[in-house]
Amino acid sequence: MENKVRIFDVKHYAVHDGPGIRTTFFLMGCPLRCLWCQNPESQKDETVITFTQMKCIGCGKCVEVCGKLDRNLQLLKASCEMCGKCVKTCFAQARQFGSTYYTPEDVLKIVKDERIFFDSSKGGVTFSGGECMLHIDFLTETVRLLKENGIRSAIDTCGAVPKSSFERILPYADLYLYDIKKIDPALHKEYTGMDNTLILENLKFLTQNDANIIIRIPLIPGYTDSKEDIDAIGRFVRDDLNNKIIRCELLPYNKLAASKYGNKTIWSDYTLGDYPLPEMEPQSKEYISELAEILKSYGIEVFSESL
Ligand code: SF4
Ligand code: SF4
Repeated sequence: MENKVRIFDVKHYAVHDGPGIRTTFFLMGCPLRCLWCQNPESQKDETVITFTQMKCIGCGKCVEVCGKLDRNLQLLKASCEMCGKCVKTCFAQARQFGSTYYTPEDVLKIVKDERIFFDSSKGGVTFSGGECMLHIDFLTETVRLLKENGIRSAIDTCGAVPKSSFERILPYADLYLYDIKKIDPALHKEYTGMDNTLILENLKFLTQNDANIIIRIPLIPGYTDSKEDIDAIGRFVRDDLNNKIIRCELLPYNKLAASKYGNKTIWSDYTLGDYPLPEMEPQSKEYISELAEILKSYGIEVFSESL
């Protein structure tokens, strides 16, 4: 069977997905269902038609070619045939097929010429998602191939995959961008659909094996951003990980995710519903600074773009 995966976005010259200049590949499929998901179109590893509100000029052409879309561009019934007529007719490119298949060789071909930027900036390639670790056969082979060609790789992961997957990738990956959303297991389950036992155990496994780790903490107002939340993470990093990480990164709330919701992104059997969280504002610089001080009190280096 060909070793290929669905990738829904490739970001060149990225500067927020690890050190230096990077090319980031976003893989489809995720085991979690975070209430604040930033890439909801990637949750299922299936064909999807995405809708970008900002690009839509309201011409109504997609409605003309498809009797299944109503005047608000929503799917009338859960019955999209993925025929692609609406994509083809949308000159504004507001409707697009959400993913393309790539093999490890395709990835190498794309990034080979970018090595000059990686080398001069200590950058490389990042794999994100969705959850890239779900596709461990593809990921292991791709990261191995990149290493063989002198290109460093980072794995952006939620950690909710079997430990055996980390055992396989460990000899090849250069860096892990590892999410901790919440230490309380019951609330973690309530907010993401899964408790965090496996996630924290995998993180311990990586530190015990001297992996390079940057912990990333998404700050969702009222869900993950209390001082108690951050204190619990600081204590876990010190007591359970012996501070064997490079640093923690605090990620302020991003309001843009909400614009992807609203029943216009289509799978064959359902559409993406409304954003489940209320309208919220990003944290202030002062508050992020207070959270950073809590982590620093545990001997942890902290970075946040808003500081
Ligand atoms: S999605 Fe595309 S085709 Fe449909 S109304 Fe918007 S711009 Fe027109
Ligand atoms: S892909 Fe789905 S929504 Fe688009 S034209 Fe075909 S049936 Fe209609």
